[in-house]
Amino acid sequence: MIFILLIILVCSIVVFLVYASSSIQAGIYVKSICSFAPYQGYSAKVEAENEKCLFLSFDDGPDPVQTPKILSVLEKYNIKALFFLIGEKIDKHEDTALSIIKAGHLAGSHSYSHNPYYPTWGYKRIKADLELGQKRIAELLSKSNNAPGTTIASNLFRPPFGVTNPPIARAIKSLGLQSIGWSIRSFDTKYDLSNRDERQKVISRICASLKPGAIILLHDRLECSHILLEELICAIEKEGYKINCKPSAELKLA
Ligand SMILES: [Zn+2]
Repeated sequence: MIFILLIILVCSIVVFLVYASSSIQAGIYVKSICSFAPYQGYSAKVEAENEKCLFLSFDDGPDPVQTPKILSVLEKYNIKALFFLIGEKIDKHEDTALSIIKAGHLAGSHSYSHNPYYPTWGYKRIKADLELGQKRIAELLSKSNNAPGTTIASNLFRPPFGVTNPPIARAIKSLGLQSIGWSIRSFDTKYDLSNRDERQKVISRICASLKPGAIILLHDRLECSHILLEELICAIEKEGYKINCKPSAELKLA
């Protein structure tokens, strides 16, 4: 009997630890902004004309092929979005990264390496990686200074894979970063976006969870992501939501 109780206890602890590290909304290790809805207690200044306002965020760029297509669609609909950039990709595609900022979008770091083993690293290695990622964002800021009206918030950070744990939390805190999560995960990476039915599944999934202030997680590295984006914008607007708004560069938890 004691043996069975022990197994149940161990299993419960494992389930909790997995949940705690993989659920960015739970905020067990790191408090992340996962929505800009004022009623959720955040002090983010939101340039919203009404409450039915949504935010689009794109991870894993800059991508030299897909990101410009995404930027074209956003420009067509006069939408500003959040881009979380990988430092290594900024090194390779700096012009694309600069074009994001020069178009007036808000950019933050998505780590330097986006290494798949990053959640298993120790504090020092994680901190070094995040620090380098922030440095690349800061360099972009200084290079884009000549473009009037551009803003970049160098303290914004989206944890790769949405994973947090005690070493990651310590690194985020010591670097003074503000973690930005999401309230709607599109799972766009799991679908073939060249297929209309597959895109519709992503859109239906997102539209079923729309709420004022929601932050939608998308990726600007996927083939046909710009087609998905255009269809998504139309679907969201049909639901009476506005996406033409941008959070302030100075974000912090209340
Ligand atoms: Zn990512």
